[in-house]
Amino acid sequence: MDAEEFRRIGHQLIDWIADYRAHIATYPVMTPTAPGAIRGQLPPTPPTRPEPFEQIFQDMEQIIVPGLVHWQHPRFYGYFPANAALSSVLGDYLSSGLGVLGLAWQSSPALTELEEVAADWMRQMVGLSEAWSGVIEDTASVSTLIALLCARERTTDYSSVRGGLQAEAQPLVVYTSIQSHSSVEKAALLAGFGRDNVHAIATDATYAMDADVLRQTIAADRARGQVPCAIVATTGTTASTALDPLAALADIARAQGLWLHVDAAMAGSAMIVPEYRWMWQGIEGADSLVLNPHKWLGANFDCSLFYVRDPAHLVRVMNTNPSYLQSAVDSQVKNLRDWGIPLGRRFRALKLWCLIRQEGVEGLQQRIRRDIENAQWLAAQVQAAPDWKILAPVPLQTICLRHEPPGLAGDALDAHTLAWVNRINQSGMAYLTPAILDGRWLVRVSIGSLSTEREHVAELWQAMQNTVVGGE
Ligand code: PLP
Repeated sequence: MDAEEFRRIGHQLIDWIADYRAHIATYPVMTPTAPGAIRGQLPPTPPTRPEPFEQIFQDMEQIIVPGLVHWQHPRFYGYFPANAALSSVLGDYLSSGLGVLGLAWQSSPALTELEEVAADWMRQMVGLSEAWSGVIEDTASVSTLIALLCARERTTDYSSVRGGLQAEAQPLVVYTSIQSHSSVEKAALLAGFGRDNVHAIATDATYAMDADVLRQTIAADRARGQVPCAIVATTGTTASTALDPLAALADIARAQGLWLHVDAAMAGSAMIVPEYRWMWQGIEGADSLVLNPHKWLGANFDCSLFYVRDPAHLVRVMNTNPSYLQSAVDSQVKNLRDWGIPLGRRFRALKLWCLIRQEGVEGLQQRIRRDIENAQWLAAQVQAAPDWKILAPVPLQTICLRHEPPGLAGDALDAHTLAWVNRINQSGMAYLTPAILDGRWLVRVSIGSLSTEREHVAELWQAMQNTVVGGE
């Protein structure tokens, strides 16, 4: 493809995306698709002859699009939002079009320096002190893995340059709540702690980590000769957006010499609004934290910000220095390959920079406030309706609810819950994800798509009420 053909087709493609976004509400949020149905329509072998882009695009419209869940739809209430604001989409196009790589500062100086600026803008936007330094990783999963590698190396005084964890006399322990995201346990396993040494701490009535239980567990582990290493706290858990008590956990971490990592993957975006910052009160006592602008804020996936208070330690853990990547200015610049795992890095900062500049901090704050108000509105409707229950506090934009008709309990209630949510999802009217809390299925309504207004939430509430009486 030459530049002229790119220009011609590129304009068509932008038009298509603009139309898609303008009319996205007319699509079913999800069309039921049988496993293998998409693959079955695609040739099993690659074309030997060139194909016109028009042909490729036709298949995209006829085969691929019908097999999608439309995450940018105003009635998408599943998982957590993964907003792709069009300003950030343009930033990402620029990144792809430029095709530059940040292997080292020298390999594209502006890539590194814009990333430093964007990460620092976000630091200021969420109200963190100047003690924090940030970098853009791909996902919270990777950021948490890096945090646990840093924790492991601090506790063992850099065991990886000796015999590694295998040479340690006693096992190191990681603490996290039973409500933390699966990526925390995965990170601990990948960092070599072993499942036996990931201690899941019970939660209180709000599904937040119980600091007293944590204190007792650490004491018991020490008494058994184990080595407490890290606490991974969550601000905004995945099932119910519970808020671990960071100030109490930071006190424990400080007193016990443990690393405190905070997973604010979802809730971090809300910290740009000053009145919500109470949710992570105590954050300055953490050693590292992750927040994902690729969730609620609007930077299209992938864009995960990882902050540390001791970048020298991070760099010591992650650093590599082959001759072919060295430059004369290395002592004056940041080489971001030493701030994470991969060597190559995309120019991800562009999409965050475009988003922040084009919407402005006030524009972004307004949207977060709107979504939280919509969640409060829906929670109030559900609370007031007979046979409906709110099952967890609603500090952010996710409502955990259940329809509990009289006489239904236990497995029968689970079956009812899964049946009605399935009917809504299959209808294409909205998309919701169920989850288990306290051993029973409930439905999460996760508000926060860019285009979701009050009217869409009201339509969902009406549809839920119609659906529970409709089906069985
Ligand atoms: N942490 C929390 C609290 C999450 O809700 C999620 C995903 O929803 C993750 C971590 C994982 O995020 P990522 O896909 O960026 O790894």
